[in-house]
Amino acid sequence: MGKIRVEGLQKSFGTNQVLKGIDMQVKEGEVVCLIGPSGSGKSTFLRCINQLEEITAGRVIVDDQDLNDSKTDINKARENIGMVFQHFNLFPHFNVLKNIMFAPMELGKMNAEQASATALRLLERVGLADKAEAFPSQLSGGQKQRVAIARALAMNPDVMLFDEPTSALDPEMVGEVLGVMKDLAREGMTMVIVTHEMGFAREVADRVVFMDGGYIIEEGLPEEVFGNPKNERTISFLEKVL
Ligand code: ADP
Ligand code: MG
Repeated sequence: MGKIRVEGLQKSFGTNQVLKGIDMQVKEGEVVCLIGPSGSGKSTFLRCINQLEEITAGRVIVDDQDLNDSKTDINKARENIGMVFQHFNLFPHFNVLKNIMFAPMELGKMNAEQASATALRLLERVGLADKAEAFPSQLSGGQKQRVAIARALAMNPDVMLFDEPTSALDPEMVGEVLGVMKDLAREGMTMVIVTHEMGFAREVADRVVFMDGGYIIEEGLPEEVFGNPKNERTISFLEKVL
């Protein structure tokens, strides 16, 4: 049974058809790395999975809930889907602790005491226990992204979506963020990760999916896709990035 089931997904912006019919399933605990050239629709695809974009056709089913069914409480469903963006999107006027406490409190999931305890536990987990009182502007990019991951985890999601979480980081900070993501994968989190970190994808992904032009062109085990790509477009993309 797929934790995430995407069937015939299409997405257009006006006349620009960006996703042209995507079928994909992600099993519970599976880590899928999504790769492909810029403009191929990777971010749009992730945003369709949690309905940040309204889909044009097809179905997205998460935990057996059809997100487009009018009976589905989309806000409730979205609480189970954590998202981490390239540019962190932390609240600049809140300190780190408050950034992490905000959603669970705002959505009535926790009182202040519970939210604070959860935030401190998560900060410990991402190696930032000493930064609870700091403001985002006082943190490095790598620290900000680890706070963003902790913030997403505070809602106790079943699924985590990452959109190029290390692309905006200086190279020396990439490892600390990938390290946190590796821990999450090891603990069994279901994850879909758009990334240009091919070494990470090779090591951590259960499956690699190559997208181009709004289609899934090729997918398979990392050793298959990286070691023996079959499609010409996959081969030409990998030649450029590896
Ligand atoms: P990728 O993440 O693979 O680089 P994107 O999903 O960001 O690709 O973009 C795919 C295409 O969708 C691009 O042509 C982009 O211009 C278009 N697009 C993405 N978001 C929007 C939007 N909000 N409005 C209009 N066009 C968009
Ligand atoms: Mg993108």
